[in-house]
Amino acid sequence: MEKESNSKRILVTGGAGFLGSHLCERLVAQGHDVLCVDNFYTGSKRNVAHLLDNANFEIMRHDITFPLYVEVDEIYNLACPASPIHYQRDPVQTTKTSVHGAINMLGLAKRLHAKLLQASTSEVYGDARRHPQTEDYWGHVNPVGLRACYDEGKRCAETLCMDYRRQHGLNVRIARIFNTYGPRMRPHDGRVISNFVTQALAGDALSVYGDGSHTRCFCFVDDLVEGLVRLMALDVVPDGPVNLGNPEEISMLDAARRVIALAQSDSGVVFMPLPVDDPCRRCPSIDRARALLGWVPCTGLDDGLSATIGYFRRLGERFDGDCLRVGVAL
Ligand code: NAD
Ligand code: UDP
Ligand code: UDP
Repeated sequence: MEKESNSKRILVTGGAGFLGSHLCERLVAQGHDVLCVDNFYTGSKRNVAHLLDNANFEIMRHDITFPLYVEVDEIYNLACPASPIHYQRDPVQTTKTSVHGAINMLGLAKRLHAKLLQASTSEVYGDARRHPQTEDYWGHVNPVGLRACYDEGKRCAETLCMDYRRQHGLNVRIARIFNTYGPRMRPHDGRVISNFVTQALAGDALSVYGDGSHTRCFCFVDDLVEGLVRLMALDVVPDGPVNLGNPEEISMLDAARRVIALAQSDSGVVFMPLPVDDPCRRCPSIDRARALLGWVPCTGLDDGLSATIGYFRRLGERFDGDCLRVGVAL
């Protein structure tokens, strides 16, 4: 717990989402005054309901594509749908959220001389041709494909952060977040871990896209939040983006088998068509995060998956067991 004198006013955009709600919880626990701003597009008040009684926590319904005038010391800009199914549902709004949203949050940071941390993504590397991905790799992105609203939106947000820094001397930090999972993902999120877990618990076949050879690296949410907080706290402004993720790479077929085993489920797997432009391999180099922040993820996949399975089990009675797969209407 930090001392009262270190208490800051902190804005978390997207604070009612999966990552944002864990971050709000962590910042409130540290004694900060937290303002959660969210338009509830993919987030929910339920994610932060347990914080509402805390005098240090406030929530505001607002779309960050519109200007925001508040008084804070630090800004974590997390607002943006992150699941491919959700960010492709209204792609123009996704780009607006990344680009107009970043301009507004950077304008706010500029007026207040506040620190800003931008939630970027491993998707800026696209269907990477270099493994693992280091921050100096420029990526391999289809600028006109179905994922471009997210990938290019986030790339432009990074550009804006760096230009506000160079042009206006802003104190900005960019976290390139790799696949993160854990409790409070929504059953209808559509991303792979929540799909596999809900399917395994319902006894349904796990929907493996393609032949299951595509890889990802999965970081447990608590580790990721620790990385974000350390990046914001860093005294020296980093020269550019910092990867945050767990470098343990796994194929989707192996991930499905792991979930089935840990959930002690009788489910099998069903192979389904690969989504367009789905990156084949993804794995972070976290050398930079390790050197700058002294950060490494400490939750292994089995422990993180067990915690996530436990969460969905407890949620069990409150959802119908049906998750969101590609091609299923929202
Ligand atoms: P999420 O969808 O659970 O949360 C996003 C939140 O932003 C939601 O609460 C949503 O309602 C809100 N939001 C969306 N558009 C908004 C707008 N215009 N104005 C205000 N609020 C808006 O996703 P998440 O996994 O928590 O991701 C949070 C951030 O981290 C995103 O910026 C995402 O790109 C980034 N990220 C996440 C991952 C991951 O694996 N979880 C990986 C890479 C990057
Ligand atoms: N902005 C905001 N809150 C503030 C200050 C600015 O939302 O407290 C928004 C505003 O919409 C502005 C944008 O941030 O257009 C960019 O601000 P900046 O000062 O960089 O540029 P300008 O005001 O000249 O457009
Ligand atoms: N995937 C899958 N089954 C699902 C959902 C996703 O096999 O039900 C695959 C998807 O094709 C991708 C990987 O899992 O190769 C991660 O997908 P996700 O949507 O979670 O995130 P991404 O990293 O693609 O943004």
